[in-house]
Amino acid sequence: MMAENLNIFKIVQNQIKEAVKLLGIDFTVYEILKEPDRVIEVSFPVKMDDGSIKVFKGLRSQHSNALGPYKGGLRFHPTVELDEAKALSMWMTIKCAVVGVPYGGAKGGVECNPKNLTEREQERISREFIKNIASDVGPEKDIPAPDVYTNPQVMAWMMDEFSKVRGYNNFGLITGKPLIVGGSKGRSEATGRGCVIVTREAIKALEYDMNDVRVAIQGFGNAGSVAARLLHDLGAKIVACNDSSAGIYNPDGIDPYDLLEYKSDMGSVKNYPGTQEVTNDELLTLDCDVLIPAALENQITGENAQNIKAKIIGEAANGPTTPEADKILFERGILTLPDILANAGGVTVSYFEWVQNLMNYYWTEQEVNERMEQMMMEAFEACYKTHLNYGVHMRLAAYLLAVQRLGEAMRIRGWLD
Ligand code: GLU
Repeated sequence: MMAENLNIFKIVQNQIKEAVKLLGIDFTVYEILKEPDRVIEVSFPVKMDDGSIKVFKGLRSQHSNALGPYKGGLRFHPTVELDEAKALSMWMTIKCAVVGVPYGGAKGGVECNPKNLTEREQERISREFIKNIASDVGPEKDIPAPDVYTNPQVMAWMMDEFSKVRGYNNFGLITGKPLIVGGSKGRSEATGRGCVIVTREAIKALEYDMNDVRVAIQGFGNAGSVAARLLHDLGAKIVACNDSSAGIYNPDGIDPYDLLEYKSDMGSVKNYPGTQEVTNDELLTLDCDVLIPAALENQITGENAQNIKAKIIGEAANGPTTPEADKILFERGILTLPDILANAGGVTVSYFEWVQNLMNYYWTEQEVNERMEQMMMEAFEACYKTHLNYGVHMRLAAYLLAVQRLGEAMRIRGWLD
């Protein structure tokens, strides 16, 4: 078997092409969507704590604004590269269109390893980066947010620096901010919560009983740990989870609240009492009912898809499943809730945050959660129906919905013949 092509930019191009063809709409829609509108590449010097100067590279890919301003996260990661940023920005366009959030897609980041940087150094990197892209972003143009290894504090620094550049407060520049400077209630939990809502709907649709459901979670960061706690609250049993250092398994169930405390004391889930250690590959292929990949891309591949035992996969991460794996899982009758649906709770509450910033009027947590739940349930329903009607897997169903909406906007805006 030829090794699977894991270039995620090529993967998303093919996914869009497949949807355009299946819908039978104007091929120009694909021509427009196959590349980002623009990519901004910057390089900037930052003074480190020891007085030395280091030069950092940053990227922002703005994919499409057919449905609204560009929107998407910024990551701090040792590998931030062009094709990856482009692909992730394309997934944002599709994701916003799937859930009906009036945004286009963007993504970016700075190539760095925050684990080796002090807080002050991270602050200077955040400020320098946003200054360098200040003319290309803004509340009406492109609204960044947290992503891998960035957090509300990073958002606050960027908002502050951008506000200085503009000369007045600009809370609406960026979402995922701390509450005190225009953040939204419910934003920090939103990705995990949204993933649990669609997983719960899938469990209902397949007529399983939540109290019998055993869950394995890959990644115990923001999205993974919230998903673990909420699924546990609904009656499911968390049997395994891992982080970048280790994986743990207990068929009788793990208390995710206690585990979170343990992890914040010890820095990892490793050696959590009463569990046995599992490798990453063992975790993915464990005997369980629901698998939540909440880490990075390309985890479930043509190599291991055959061995997955879960019946539902809820993708909290972006791009965890490859196209070859998608096919295998579909043939095996496993229901994959794709990232562009399952992790869209994050950008949905980002949208609410931005709306609150523009209105300067703030909602209760209950209002935020209820509105998000309604949007996620409607999106699940629409994708599930399309999946049944077309006889295609849920990812392609979500693409069909999104590309249809994007094509419609393009037609009305006069971008097509
Ligand atoms: N980074 C998150 C995502 O991949 C959130 C993006 C946002 O809130 O704009 O969906």
